[in-house]
Amino acid sequence: MNDTIQNPFSSASARSFTELPLSPGMQSTLQQLGYLMMTPIQAASLPLALGGHDLIAQAKTGSGKTAAFALPLLTKLNPRRFAVQAMVLCPTRELADQVTQEIRRLARAADNIKILTLCGGSTMRPQIASLEHGAHIVVGTPGRIMDHMERGTLNLEALNTLVLDEADRMLDMGFYDDIAFVAKRCPTDRQTLMFSATYPEGIARLARQFMRNPQEIKLAEQHQSNKIRQRFYEVSNEERLEAVGALLRHYRPVSTLAFCNTKQQCRSLLEVLHAQGIYALTLNGDMEQRDRDQVLIQFANRSCSVLVATDVAARGLDIAQLEAVINVDVTPDPEVHIHRIGRTGRADEEGWALSLCGPSDRHRIVSIARMTGNVPEWHALSELKDEDESPLVPPMVTLQILGGRKEKIRPGDVLGALTGDAGFSREQVGKIAVTDFSTYVAVVRDIAREAVRRLSAGKVKGKTVKVRAL
Ligand code: ADP
Ligand code: MG
Repeated sequence: MNDTIQNPFSSASARSFTELPLSPGMQSTLQQLGYLMMTPIQAASLPLALGGHDLIAQAKTGSGKTAAFALPLLTKLNPRRFAVQAMVLCPTRELADQVTQEIRRLARAADNIKILTLCGGSTMRPQIASLEHGAHIVVGTPGRIMDHMERGTLNLEALNTLVLDEADRMLDMGFYDDIAFVAKRCPTDRQTLMFSATYPEGIARLARQFMRNPQEIKLAEQHQSNKIRQRFYEVSNEERLEAVGALLRHYRPVSTLAFCNTKQQCRSLLEVLHAQGIYALTLNGDMEQRDRDQVLIQFANRSCSVLVATDVAARGLDIAQLEAVINVDVTPDPEVHIHRIGRTGRADEEGWALSLCGPSDRHRIVSIARMTGNVPEWHALSELKDEDESPLVPPMVTLQILGGRKEKIRPGDVLGALTGDAGFSREQVGKIAVTDFSTYVAVVRDIAREAVRRLSAGKVKGKTVKVRAL
């Protein structure tokens, strides 16, 4: 068992990007982004991937896997050739959007590289039109990519890099056959890069079928223990859900991810938290894409205190600034436990990992402790003080403006409207997210009502808009 504690961004064994054979333009982009040292997965995979090898790389969420495949595919790209040269398969649209954004950031030194996201849930026709205009890189979900291939709207003859991102999650979601269909129709002399957080059997099966002598990279899933403060609370099953509220009122984290083992438990917890006046939302696979977007936006911009989710629903989400992770149910798999709590205590922030353990969960804690080499710190619910009667309220409120990318609204237009005519200060405005049909802006809680009034009375991008607080 590996006992070394490793922070994905630690500098102990860090190596600089300047060691790599990257163009001067790419080197300066990396510097501008503040990417000075490679993360461990990048240091392990980039030399091989840039050397043209096929790779299977396993590392936890947030370890910098996107750049590990984006740099090799961008390096090989010929911007003057108007054909799809690289394709990234992702399990969900959110992840495809995140990957697209990260590749765009990394590609900004190169001229006019077109990156297209192709996911289900959006209409085909605009995607077909964009494909006709030519794209260099395609990022999408397997089902939709397959649709385009079958219709003949996606030509992959010039493809030289195929990436499978979050491969384990795609397998969980039943995409094996779709991935096989897509991979079989890509040119055989391509490079294939596969990234995954865990290594289930299906991964090896995919690799045997579609990869050429892949190099395997596996990083131990460990976190720097002093950043994540972990505590275990013994509860009876009857008090478990109520206890989540007690933890929240005691620790008062601004953003908390609460993990349940089942969807049913997520729903029950949401009810209990709402009854306690806590701003909580949940994420699950049955939701419409638009609702999922709204939930993620509200959580990321700090206008929702708690996001309740199962492991499947939360996989791959890149949420910075998470003060706490609560294991409402302890997971039977110690690797999943380590993965869950690694969501907090990122970068230079400290985070709480709080676990509620029922009488039958004890043996799970033993195997977690054995795996991490830490002695579990037990606490009693009775220590949680509830004297501070002030309710836990998120600092921000999300305003929804009807009108988004389709109306060509940009974040700057909304910021301009709020700080210009409406007269608010930059500090009172938080994150702004533009989706196809709506724009979401976070504002500090006490100006929310006034901000809705003034935005509705004024104009955004020269037009009157409909605004409401969520
Ligand atoms: P993963 O795919 O492994 O979950 P991401 O590729 O989404 O991880 O990266 C996580 C975060 O770390 C992103 O916000 C990304 O911009 C940032 N990041 C990636 N590589 C570096 C680096 N070398 N230095 C600093 N930040 C980085
Ligand atoms: Mg990723």
